Parts: sequence; structure tokens; C-alpha cells
Amino acid sequence: MRAEKARGRDAVAVEEAPRARIIVFLGAPGSGKGTQSALLSAELGIAALSTGEMLRAEAQRETSAGRKLRKVLASGALVADELVCDAVAARLKREIANGGMILDGFPRTLAQAERLDGILRGLDLGPAMVLHLDVPREHIVARLTARRQCASCGAIYNLVSRRSGRGEVCESDGGALVQREDDSEPVILKRLTAFDLACAPLVEYYRGANYHWIDGGGSTAAVAAQLLSIVKARGKKPEKTQAAA
Ligand code: AMP
Repeated sequence: MRAEKARGRDAVAVEEAPRARIIVFLGAPGSGKGTQSALLSAELGIAALSTGEMLRAEAQRETSAGRKLRKVLASGALVADELVCDAVAARLKREIANGGMILDGFPRTLAQAERLDGILRGLDLGPAMVLHLDVPREHIVARLTARRQCASCGAIYNLVSRRSGRGEVCESDGGALVQREDDSEPVILKRLTAFDLACAPLVEYYRGANYHWIDGGGSTAAVAAQLLSIVKARGKKPEKTQAAA
């Protein structure tokens, strides 16, 4: 079936109506979104995009945009909606043919959520499934200050709960395990405040059939099993709407 008219800047020409699954992880920094979206991505065979990782990679560039981005990331503030939305839209359009995508860290503002809906309508897809991982703030601060990441492949470890079997280096590729610049306590507190401000309106926006609250305080395996059962239960029928008006 050919998708009917899709208008606006997020319109895309598609010959076959896509049967793609779009999953959004909502949760504070340190709530386990990165770990869980990687596990879910492997289970479902669809890509996961961490907007934080994407922006950190962009910030490595020795250009004025790269330097500007580095400053924003180091401060714990949010990056401008337009920049993040355009990058997500481009990637999303590419991943539709591969079955969909998991979004980790996007949307983070109401404007981003509205833009995402526009993108999905433009792609002739129904609303995203939203998985909200909720973890008490004191656990989050403890998790984030102990978090380490492979400088080479991005794998996530934790000095308390998930140590590398190879000590100071990554189990998979031997890369150095480093602390993210924005995982220092003052910046963590700023990031959590930014999240708290944005979270309530996002939950309000998404509350409904496709929104799922999950207690993210359990073990990685327990949370992963819960997420998978939610996704499988809801994923029997691909969500699809009428063609965008
Ligand atoms: P994360 O790795 O998800 O904790 O994100 C790290 C940082 O990247 C955040 O503190 C923001 O500065 C930026 N960032 C990530 N995702 C977004 C987004 N959707 N909108 C704006 N800024 C973002």
C-alpha cells in the first residue's frame, strides 16, 4: 500500500506503508535508559539512538559548533530543540525501513515531543510507545557518580553495580573507562533539575494508552524483563494511523 499524502517539513516519500516500532525512553539521567535501550535494541533488532551520545560525538569536532556544544554539555543545560530535532528526524527516517527505532533521551521538552509527533505523522506512523523509567533521586546521584564509560565503544559500567571483568578497561574492546565530564555531582544536580522541570509536562502529554510507568529501581535484568513484556504485549499489532492530513 502506498502511503498517502504526508505534508510539512517532516514529510517523506514512502512506497510501502512502514510497519515500524518507535519506542521512547523517558527517565532522568542515570535512570538506566542507556543500558535498557541497548538491551531492548538487541532483543527487538532495531536501532537505539541516544541523543546524549550523538551530541557528545558532535561536540568532539574542532569546529565552532563543536566547541559551543561542548560548553553546553559540560554545563548540564539542554541543547537547543531545533538542533536535536533535526538530527533525530534525519536518523528516524533512515531507520523506518529497518523496523523502527528506540529513542534514549529524546524528547526532553514539550516542543521536542510535539515535533516527534509531527515526524511520526509525516512517516504515516502512530504515536510512539513511551517507557518511563522512574528511579528515586538519591539512587540516581549514587549511580551517576559511580558510572564509567568506555572511551572507545561507549559501553556503560558502574564502580558499584557493574564493574568491568577486565578491571580498568572495557570488557569488549579494552578501551579506557572514563567518567563523563557531566557526571560530576554539581552538574548531575543541574541535569536532574532540568529533567524534573521537563518531565511532568511530558508525562502529562504522553499519558494514555502508549505511556508506561516502570519502577527503574530494580536490577538491570528485572527491569529489562519488565520492559520486554510490556513491549511484546503492546507490539502484537503495529501501531499505524490514517495517512497524515
Ligand atoms: P544524556 O546522555 O542523555 O544524559 O544527555 C547528556 C546531555 O546531552 C544532556 O545533559 C543535554 O545537554 C544533552 N541532550 C541529550 N539529549 C537531549 C535532548 N533531547 N534535548 C536537548 N539536550 C539533550
